[in-house]
Amino acid sequence: MQSFESLNLSYELHRATKDMGYETATEIQEKTLPIILEGKDVIGRSQTGTGKTAAFSIPMIELVDASNKRDVQALVVCPTRELAMQSHGEIKKLYKYKSGVKAAALYGGQHILQQIRELKKGINIVVGTPGRIMDHLRRGTLKLNNTKIIVLDEADEMLNMGFRDDIETILKETPETRQTVLFSATMPPEIMALTKQYQKDPVVVEINKHEMTITAIEQLYCEVPQQRKKDALIEILKQYTPHLAIVFCNTQKMVDELSEFLNQNGFDADGIHGNMRQHIRTKVMGNFKTGTSKILVATDVAARGIDAPNVEIVINYDIPTDPEFYIHRIGRTGRAGKSGRAVTILGNRAQLLQLKTVERMMKQKVALLNIEMGGFTERKATQPAERIRYEKVAVKPLRPERKEPRSSGTVSKIELNIGKEQRVAPNHIVGAIAEKTSLSGSDIGKIIIGRKSSTVEVPATHQKEVLSALKGGKIMGLFISARPYDEDFADTPFAFPKGTPKKVNKK
Ligand code: ADP
Ligand code: MG
Repeated sequence: MQSFESLNLSYELHRATKDMGYETATEIQEKTLPIILEGKDVIGRSQTGTGKTAAFSIPMIELVDASNKRDVQALVVCPTRELAMQSHGEIKKLYKYKSGVKAAALYGGQHILQQIRELKKGINIVVGTPGRIMDHLRRGTLKLNNTKIIVLDEADEMLNMGFRDDIETILKETPETRQTVLFSATMPPEIMALTKQYQKDPVVVEINKHEMTITAIEQLYCEVPQQRKKDALIEILKQYTPHLAIVFCNTQKMVDELSEFLNQNGFDADGIHGNMRQHIRTKVMGNFKTGTSKILVATDVAARGIDAPNVEIVINYDIPTDPEFYIHRIGRTGRAGKSGRAVTILGNRAQLLQLKTVERMMKQKVALLNIEMGGFTERKATQPAERIRYEKVAVKPLRPERKEPRSSGTVSKIELNIGKEQRVAPNHIVGAIAEKTSLSGSDIGKIIIGRKSSTVEVPATHQKEVLSALKGGKIMGLFISARPYDEDFADTPFAFPKGTPKKVNKK
């Protein structure tokens, strides 16, 4: 481990990192920071929570010419406003002793005029989401013709959200001589294609903590009927009595439901997901770190990029939709040489098959945990000490998949004035909503692309937020109108929202 001192940072950055409590550089920082400082293109891959923000922000700040505030010299592109805010916050802390350096954050959901005013004040670093950066580029309020370095953070996530075209446009707006740094948790072919086209001899830095982490973690699974997963969760918590535990769910709704359920059953649990205000999330994380609350119930998105302390047990209440997430999740335990434990609760055979995929990817087996389910439910009387084994369940016929909770009358359908004719794809709509609202991709339900219009399902509680966020916004450069879906009016012409120019982009 290298100290920050030996990295030859300027006095100002050295002092700032000290203020922030950083003593030694993390592995990804040690390996990428000096190369970025040399001006080389970099592809960095490491798990969440390994300090990637500082890894690119420190050299980026060092490379900025503080006497030049006319040009945006450095640009950081992040998938969500959440992450843009977080990176912006860290960057500000890092440059606080460097006079003349100033960063602006550009993301949806904040008034564009306010951002334009900010940009006019003289800025040399911009941190933003693709959609909002594009918006400023179109308005001419952001110019990237003298940008020296661009960082694509969480690049895989940005591609998943349908930002590929935007990212390419943004890259093309910057000089070819720019330095391009890319960080990604996974390296799908799309990312490789992007780096091939836009990076010059990139240095690949891959910190593969997976194997190390995994061997230090005892990995278990149990299979119970879907409707008894909650009982299984309680049983696991009782059995292991962890000091700190994280319970992962796939949806925000489940996070809310489970944290309430746990509290009702006498456990100190707090939920955290992307739909909570930042200050509440900060408080929840604080409570967890100090042990005031012992159980954190979280979605992947909320946990992504968020700092979690070492925990004794990670429980996958829902098996993650992506095998990579499994590794990210369980990596929250078994840190710093301590042993950890991860238990995945499976509710049906389809989920068991998903676990098999994870096992294949890890080249490692997950052991079966037999849990006694008799101790605390009403079924106790009739079925004492019911033991649930994978062998038993495997021969059962496939239960029909239960509908996702969002279809239980809590969804609202929203109609948009763009469809196949405008060549819109579902990921464009997901991207626009995820960027401009507090929802994340997994909160967004069914999307149907019609000829001239499309519908998208969102949680009813967020209908208003989505409608107002989309109002006057653009998807693929087209002004969009959104309205609550009404069968009687479906596919009838949209009235443009007040204040939006009528003539623009009717093509
Ligand atoms: P990533 O982007 O890899 O998910 P972050 O950049 O968000 O990780 O960093 C995770 C946490 O680690 C943050 O709270 C950050 O302040 C902290 N951190 C980063 N570098 C160091 C360091 N060298 N020493 C101690 N803490 C650090
Ligand atoms: Mg990050």
